[in-house]
Amino acid sequence: EDSNLYISMKLKAAAEVCPTIIGYVTVLHAITEVNENSSIHGLIVQLPLDSINKIDTEKVTNAVAPEKDVDGLTSINAGKLSRGDLGECFIPCTPNGCMELIRQTGVTVAGKRAVVIGRSKIVGAPMHDLLLWNHATVTTCHSKTADLPEEVGKADILVVGIGKAEMVKGEWIKKGAVVIDCGINHVPDESKASGKRVVGDVHFDSAKEHASFITPVPGGVGPMTVAMLMANTVLSAKRFLDSHQPG
Ligand code: NDP
Repeated sequence: EDSNLYISMKLKAAAEVCPTIIGYVTVLHAITEVNENSSIHGLIVQLPLDSINKIDTEKVTNAVAPEKDVDGLTSINAGKLSRGDLGECFIPCTPNGCMELIRQTGVTVAGKRAVVIGRSKIVGAPMHDLLLWNHATVTTCHSKTADLPEEVGKADILVVGIGKAEMVKGEWIKKGAVVIDCGINHVPDESKASGKRVVGDVHFDSAKEHASFITPVPGGVGPMTVAMLMANTVLSAKRFLDSHQPG
């Protein structure tokens, strides 16, 4: 208790001297507490971090103990995934959910040509790794890709995470492709009470004429992301129990 009082006085003083420090100290302190609590098996840093001061997101997400990182965003887990050590890491929830949706179609991934649009740490980059280690031949596109429609046209499996409403048009898509749309975009819609509706990054109505399977938005990848977070947390608890078995 004495020590806690002393710490809180120091935090208060630090906040007056430099508000950025209080942000870091408080967040990192909270993360360390959870890291050290053996009854908690999952910890996520909800992004984006909301602060009036600039916060180094990378530093904060990397403070999470890799064995509790159920979002799979630490460099350790990302590194393992990029090397193909899938059984030893936590796979980020959105790509993991996309992969499960692809599996559920019954379409074989090995040997297929997959195209991922987007290379963010949370969607595109881990999706690339996951498809690669499931033995697809993967192309990852981004904002500097010269001819996006041409790349999209080669895909047997297309996963889109751009953040631009209905950007991918049906006519770009190869006949029979599996199309997974991660996008969540709000567009104006006066017929709705809220004045807006949610659409994906793929133009669904034209794309469904070309795809063999396609995810809707909303109701496709979003619920899978939540389900995968639960699955990763249960996996984490199981790993913990396995490593603490007597004998
Ligand atoms: P980011 O903004 O972090 O990344 C977007 C990616 O799209 C970048 O790699 C960017 O390229 C690329 N991009 C942007 N413009 C173009 C373009 N014109 N042509 C080709 N590529 C382009 O977004 P996130 O990855 O975080 O999210 C992507 C989408 O997925 C968003 O709509 C988000 O809301 C949604 N999302 C959904 C989740 C779910 O649970 N369903 C979870 C997380 C995200 P570059 O790297 O060159 O800038």
